[in-house]
Amino acid sequence: MIDKNELLASVSESSAESEFFSPIPKGYQKGKTKYVVVMGTVMSGLGKGIFSSCLAKLMLDKGLKVSPIKLEGYLNIDSGTLNPFRHGEVFVLDDGMECDMDLGTYERMLDQNLSKDNFSTSGQIYREILDKERHGDYLGRDVQMIPHVTGEVKLKLRTLAMKTNADIIFVEIGGTAGDLENAFYIEAMRELAYEEGPHSCCFVALTYILEPRILGEQKSKAAQLGIKQLMQSGIQPDIIACRAANAVSEKVRQKISVYSNVPVSRVISLADSASIYQIPAMLRECGMDFEVLRFLHIEDRIDLRKERAEWAKWCDFTDKIGKEKYEINIGITGKYTSVRDSYASIINALEHSGIALGCKVKISWIDTSAITDRNAAEHLKDVNGIIVPGGFGVRGTEGKIACIKYARENNIPFLGICLGFQMAVIEFARNVCNLKKANSTEIEPNCSEPVIDILPEQKKIEGLGGNMRLGGQDIKLKPDTIAFKLFGSNSAIRMRFRHRYEVDPRYIETLEKAGMVFSGNSPKHPIMQILELSEHPYFIATQAHPCLTSRPLHPQPMFTGLAAAAISARYPDKKIPKFLQAVEMVCS
Ligand code: GLN
Repeated sequence: MIDKNELLASVSESSAESEFFSPIPKGYQKGKTKYVVVMGTVMSGLGKGIFSSCLAKLMLDKGLKVSPIKLEGYLNIDSGTLNPFRHGEVFVLDDGMECDMDLGTYERMLDQNLSKDNFSTSGQIYREILDKERHGDYLGRDVQMIPHVTGEVKLKLRTLAMKTNADIIFVEIGGTAGDLENAFYIEAMRELAYEEGPHSCCFVALTYILEPRILGEQKSKAAQLGIKQLMQSGIQPDIIACRAANAVSEKVRQKISVYSNVPVSRVISLADSASIYQIPAMLRECGMDFEVLRFLHIEDRIDLRKERAEWAKWCDFTDKIGKEKYEINIGITGKYTSVRDSYASIINALEHSGIALGCKVKISWIDTSAITDRNAAEHLKDVNGIIVPGGFGVRGTEGKIACIKYARENNIPFLGICLGFQMAVIEFARNVCNLKKANSTEIEPNCSEPVIDILPEQKKIEGLGGNMRLGGQDIKLKPDTIAFKLFGSNSAIRMRFRHRYEVDPRYIETLEKAGMVFSGNSPKHPIMQILELSEHPYFIATQAHPCLTSRPLHPQPMFTGLAAAAISARYPDKKIPKFLQAVEMVCS
């Protein structure tokens, strides 16, 4: 751990005596950690996080220590308050940090838990600066964008380097070169490269090659202009990754090389790919990993034997993509059905389990605003399984409850997540326990049977007031339940949470008497975390978000259970393992 006072000591010294201001943590060794900085040009949405995480994975496989950091331009302190419809899902880390969905991509690719140190926003940077200013840490200086704000950014990166002891920090800068809100990050990277010295920072510019249908050929002008913009900010890219619908032609790569001072061997083509899990192989094939290692002068740090073993494991997984024997259709009910990014982790979790089971998972997005008990069968006739995911607010909740009723009564495999768990409790209370007025106080604040509520005593226990219960929490599983078996007969597991409401313990006895099994609870508090029904092929729900911890090589058991149960439902004649056997085969 780095002592904050040590950091502040170095801040004050440099601030008082010279124009230079580059707070460096005590003990920081220049040259130990290298930096790969990934920036976007031309447009956003090029997949900087995907590119960066795939490259990081190739380095990790080689035995190098890697740590990513995403630098966001917006002023929010975290992503918790962002609308997933505009910004993609809010990804929650084990330490409770609510961050950008790209952190999910890094965790999945690297099979590694990240922390709040791996995510920063302009809001966080400015808050640090203003706190220090009020504390008198700048000793009479006027606090400026350069060197103070950029200094704070560099401090963040170097502190991460020290804490993680990384060989390479992957820095992903949000937005696109030329955006005002990200300009100080780019400037900080220019300064960092200068201070750290030659071969310490590798700048990667992601760009886009247009291929207008009317012309029928690839055009590089937009890419050239985007790269020029970056160069005007004082950044000479070392690698240019050209995103495009199709493979980028040699001619276009040469043209970009001529205009950007980047050798054509480092101008690479990155065409659209069916699965992001195939991208590490694409990068490997064009020699990107070794280009970066050579550039950073760290070829001598790698372990090729480890790489061979890791790569074989990875290929076992990717070789199955596109060769699936089964196909299932999973219906996902949701408010943000038009934006797939809002449910990125769920889509990924289904993909992981599907690939492991040799099954292609198609997704049907179901808008529940018009679904009722009467028409649920019509809306759900083509699905082999249903997920009711997390969410906030009232819209579509009655439709979700109707879908759950249909799944429960018609033996359709069902997985409820967070709000989906709460809706499953309400449905069961209303239709099985005959508590017709059952609801959540989030939906109906004055309801007479608040089976889902914010509980005052739990507010006290968690010490969070009306705030959310966030991040990784331990769960104790009841022996001999489906949940217990799904998790390999392990009674202590951990999942990540993001909720405010929960089951009111006063109703537990009634619910249990009617057949609902609460198979996972908080070990310390009476918070119900997993429920299941034993007389159903697969009916399970959790107050947690199991999708957040599904990884390509370690599919999440609750998703694998759902996919396996849906396969059994779709192929009743085939001799396929029962879902628990299937889960055991792929999750153990
Ligand atoms: N709105 C619900 C709560 O706050 C569920 C939250 C969620 O699904 N993430 O408890």
